Amino acid sequence: MSWRCHGRSNEELIANLQKNGILSSAAATDAMARIDRAFFVPRGGSPYQDAPQPIGHGATISAPHMHGYCVSMLADHLKPGMAVLDVGSGSGYLTAVFALMVGQTGKAVGIEHIPELVESSIKNIRRTPAVSLLDAGALSVHAGDGKLGFPACSPYDAIHVGAAAAEMPQALVDQLKPGGRMVIPVGRFLQDLVVIDKLSDGSIKKRTEMGVSYVPLV
Ligand code: SAH
Repeated sequence: MSWRCHGRSNEELIANLQKNGILSSAAATDAMARIDRAFFVPRGGSPYQDAPQPIGHGATISAPHMHGYCVSMLADHLKPGMAVLDVGSGSGYLTAVFALMVGQTGKAVGIEHIPELVESSIKNIRRTPAVSLLDAGALSVHAGDGKLGFPACSPYDAIHVGAAAAEMPQALVDQLKPGGRMVIPVGRFLQDLVVIDKLSDGSIKKRTEMGVSYVPLV
């Protein structure tokens, strides 16, 4: 069902993601409906196509179906007041979606290693309803190596990684709260989308959700 959710508008795209069972959380659906992808795809791109789109500097905004899956899998860990880290935040799209979900009492942090993308992502976010969260400091985007996480705002209820790690970055596991969840593509060529749950006693439960194809986390 993935790759077939194209729409002619953001509204239609979200409706198709929902119809195909990809968006399985009401809160995720609502947030993705409020953040129009057109603000995150450069002119000439196809924001409502269910495929990755170039955003410059060799990076892409991930396909809508991957965003839909990941936000749905993390939705229980993106409740108002919670803290979320978006590693490889790229266009800023998901950081904005996460920020709307955790709200002004929460914290949404993006980390991206290409400084120009950090800058353009902030410009993109400014055109969405997440701008007030950016101004209030509940949403922030930083330049840096996401493999190291962002300790200053840790621990996190939710961590999303938007690029494939060759091996599981231990710093990210360490920055997850007990009860928290991380969604991360792991592998070199064939990758698994891995869901890591840190249980209340600090132990780790790991499962593979599906095979995926992401750009590498460098
Ligand atoms: N989730 C984003 C971007 C996905 S592409 C979106 O949908 O818009 C993956 C991003 O990860 C790229 O922007 C790339 O520059 C970034 N990236 C790769 N390795 C990184 C690292 N070590 N630290 C931070 N960002 C990284």
